[in-house]
Amino acid sequence: MSRTGPLVFKFGGTSVASPPAIASVVKIVAAEQGERLVVVSATAGTTDALVQAAQQAAGGDAMAAQATIERLSEQHRNLIADLLGVNGADVLGEVVDLTERTIALLRSVALLRECSPRSLDAILSYGERVSAPIVAATLSANGVAAEALSAEGLLITDDAFGHANPIAELTRERVAAQILPRMRYGTVPVVTGFVGSTADGVTTTLGRGGSDYSAAVLAAALDARECRIFTDVSGVYSADPRIVPDAKPLPAISYAEAAELSYFGAKVLHPRTVLPAVEAGIPVRILNTFAPDEPGTTIAASTPKDDTVVKATTSLGGLGMVTVQGAGMSGVPGFAARVFDTTAAEQVSVLMISQASSENSICLVVPNESVKPLESALRKMFSKELARHDVEKVAIEAPVAIVSAVGEGMRGTPGVAARLFSAIARAKVNVLAIAQGSSELNISLVVHEKDRETAVRAVHREFHES
Ligand code: ASP
Ligand code: MG
Repeated sequence: MSRTGPLVFKFGGTSVASPPAIASVVKIVAAEQGERLVVVSATAGTTDALVQAAQQAAGGDAMAAQATIERLSEQHRNLIADLLGVNGADVLGEVVDLTERTIALLRSVALLRECSPRSLDAILSYGERVSAPIVAATLSANGVAAEALSAEGLLITDDAFGHANPIAELTRERVAAQILPRMRYGTVPVVTGFVGSTADGVTTTLGRGGSDYSAAVLAAALDARECRIFTDVSGVYSADPRIVPDAKPLPAISYAEAAELSYFGAKVLHPRTVLPAVEAGIPVRILNTFAPDEPGTTIAASTPKDDTVVKATTSLGGLGMVTVQGAGMSGVPGFAARVFDTTAAEQVSVLMISQASSENSICLVVPNESVKPLESALRKMFSKELARHDVEKVAIEAPVAIVSAVGEGMRGTPGVAARLFSAIARAKVNVLAIAQGSSELNISLVVHEKDRETAVRAVHREFHES
């Protein structure tokens, strides 16, 4: 199936932070013809610095906040000088202008000693609003006619400041009015990622890391042919390359696999953010700005069937395991409900659950810092049962890690679990608990933190290196 429609490119923070990176961005965009839209992040580190400036201002320290912004301004002005030299005057003016306005905002925050989520969004938008004109001007200077556009008034959201939700129909209308005509005249719009606005123009942001989300929303509004997300790694890997040096980027993964991988620790992108594109049937590709010829990873609603069983092995540390165990609990209705009432009341997020079929025990994997509070809450909840020995113990095991093997090919393939556990056993790793989702998309094991890397390597070797 080949789609028509424009191409959407999104460049992340490291892709726009230095002259060589932006040179690479220009090459990537110039290498394609036809209708294109570029979405940019703030330069790496800028949004963090803006958060800091807002905190300094909210603490009453206007001077410190101003110094933080001026440092950012200087970095961007240096970038402009390096990239555009004397031709950078217009962009320079824009940066100076935006800097002044942001300093004024920070001053009022410092006066009030309070930074509302609405003010914070206005402050944070500085990062993308300065990076977009820099990228647009560099594209233009290199023969790709481009124009920077703020997503305010374009990407329309509700007013949940700090994590605003895009409104697809309104965004589509604005895109039709503002983007399509520009693209038709051969201009490449360079749109601020992360930023949006309410229908009446109040600045919002989509949440940290939100420029992928912007790209996906705009791709959907444009019926784009493809949404290419450029970052500083070559896609989603079969395992964390820091643990498994032989890990390779995966050519294609399904949305469900991407979701599973990110839940269990893979860091490339938050799959929820690309859902608007995936739902619209637009392939999302993760590519490397610094190695643009590598094929990257395509994420689509479903991927062509291949013969891989386990696509990727991932792991998540910093966890602990809490087990409620007792022979008196088997066949007692409501036991699990009381366990989960306790986690809900304690506001503990549970990453994995497993119950033995004897119903003797339920074990929960939770963030390490929740282990102790959860243990005491469970002891309280089951104090009568503990006294009667219907519940024998509430035990904890920490630190532990979850190691997950993920792949749609596991569904209906017999023997995957056996291979997995043999591989783990050969590596002499002790498995503390096991869970398999009923979608058969993943098998997860709990191991001691110290065994985490050994376990990941063993699973990867079994399924990828044979
Ligand atoms: N600049 C924003 C952040 O750092 C959004 C993004 O980079 O995706 O969170
Ligand atoms: Mg980023």
